Amino acid sequence: MFEKASVLLIFTGGTISMSEDANTGALRPIDFERLKELMPELKKTGILIDTIPFVPFIDSSDVHPPLWERMAVTIKENYDKYDGFVILHGTDTMAYSASALSFMLANLSKPVVFTGAQLPIGMMRSDAKENLLTSIEIAAAKENGRAIVPEVCIFFEDTLFRGNRTTKKNAEHFNAFNSYNYPILAKAGVHIKYFRSAIRYPQSDEKLHLRTKIDQNVAILKLFPGITEDMVSAILNIPNLKAVILETFGTGNAPRRIWFYNALKAANERGIIVVNKTQCSIGSVEMGRYETSLNLVNAGVISGYDITTEALVTKLMYLLGEYRAVDEVKELLSRDICGEMTVS
Ligand code: ASP
Repeated sequence: MFEKASVLLIFTGGTISMSEDANTGALRPIDFERLKELMPELKKTGILIDTIPFVPFIDSSDVHPPLWERMAVTIKENYDKYDGFVILHGTDTMAYSASALSFMLANLSKPVVFTGAQLPIGMMRSDAKENLLTSIEIAAAKENGRAIVPEVCIFFEDTLFRGNRTTKKNAEHFNAFNSYNYPILAKAGVHIKYFRSAIRYPQSDEKLHLRTKIDQNVAILKLFPGITEDMVSAILNIPNLKAVILETFGTGNAPRRIWFYNALKAANERGIIVVNKTQCSIGSVEMGRYETSLNLVNAGVISGYDITTEALVTKLMYLLGEYRAVDEVKELLSRDICGEMTVS
């Protein structure tokens, strides 16, 4: 017998989970009954849709690691019941959450599609309906009994991205996200066109398992011309610090000041991991290409290649949470774990 595809919608908050109150016009959290009223199209999909609201809904600026764990656990608990999952989430930190989930959901073989909206459902010109309907269709899509996109991804406007490659780039327009260093996974026009060579398929038949331990002792040190020794030292000496993302210039370059080199070397000797991440959106760190990055190699800094800051923050939190030995974390940092970077 033909079985209906099924999708679980997980509401976490953000603009997409709000609608205007008919009387006051104020934005308030939406429930599934109201969603069905506002979106009769949901019925026409022919897909069985269930919902789980994470009450209270939150603005995604308030997202923190326990919420990532809650999302991962919810997916695991419902994994066998649904063909795919759609997570409704605010756009502000969606790229962080999608990156975090890509590390937490090991051996994922079903789609987990994050989506959101720049305008709430029910508002004139809202982008919420299109984003939600297409995300549901992608989450349910199968070919020969297997999911077409068994990845954690973000669908926005008309494009499907690998989640851990995305960055929020636009606070005004509907095309809020981009994946600067990796091709898109699908484009939705009259039909949804999947770019199969860009999609990552499960590497083994092992079952889904969670890796939700997180260590938040990670900091970002963004360089700029004129940065002082005191500023660098204040960050590298944060109590309990375990890793620093060093946001560098161009292909991974930094000032050649001796105090800067000494500060990084001393941090490395104290067991603090320093990862080189370029401030450019497009392209990769190439350690040693210029003299200005040779010093970093000598100070023990490791390359972040073309990873996004969002993916690097969450990769570090996950690796530091799961592994104790600094050398092991460093080794895994240099590896592509779930499509988050291109090791060159
Ligand atoms: N501030 C909102 C959030 O990220 C914006 C949005 O939903 O797009 O939750």
